[in-house]
Amino acid sequence: MSSDRDTLFLARSRALSTVLDQLFRLQDRVRFVQTRQRQRDTIPDELVEVDRDHREKVEAVSRIRQRLAAAQVEHRRAEAELDDQREKLKKYQGQLRNVQSSREYSAVLNEIDGVEKLVRATEEKVLSLEEEIEGGQKELSEREERLPRETEEHEEKLKDWRAEQQSINQELAAAEEEIRNLDAAIPPRERAEFHRLLDRKSGLAVVRVVDKSCSACHVKVRPAALQILKSGNELVYCDSCKRILYYDEQGS
Ligand SMILES: [Zn+2]
Repeated sequence: MSSDRDTLFLARSRALSTVLDQLFRLQDRVRFVQTRQRQRDTIPDELVEVDRDHREKVEAVSRIRQRLAAAQVEHRRAEAELDDQREKLKKYQGQLRNVQSSREYSAVLNEIDGVEKLVRATEEKVLSLEEEIEGGQKELSEREERLPRETEEHEEKLKDWRAEQQSINQELAAAEEEIRNLDAAIPPRERAEFHRLLDRKSGLAVVRVVDKSCSACHVKVRPAALQILKSGNELVYCDSCKRILYYDEQGS
């Protein structure tokens, strides 16, 4: 074997082991980002109730506002109805003065009776809407007055959590930059293979060989495969779970 070939061989294997190191690191960073994003977006147990309480207060204000607007529309509509009904009543009362027969008289009286019932019902509706609007406005203004202070107190309780979220965001930015750099450095074929496996194998595409076994599925790696892996000449997959095997001195 010429020394040239040795050098070439070594360079290749070093290159591949570098790619494997990069893939392993890339996977680590991808998983880190997922975990930290979840932590950033999950409110801590001790704050869940505090947060829910405050959200309810905020939501109550908008709910009452909406209900008030709807009640005001209903109120205007009921008042218009009432005007119509009163007009109708006046018309019948006018007719009553001009009736010619007792049959006609009792027919008009009947109409008046019916419209009077409607007027009473609509008056009640108008009244109860007015009560509702008054109560809603009172409650709304009380809640609106309290809300800024409550929000301030709430943010104070969440202060540490917000700081934690910010520091997670900084970690995420750094990790995402590293992911971009690794993605750019890894050869396209290996990169594509890695991402394909990452999707299929629930976020675990590259796994360490520990104790001559695949650390994901614990199936023994064949001695021949282990030899190829150690020589670093090509990607070696686990026979059982088909993940890319990663061998490093410290882990194995
Ligand atoms: Zn396996």
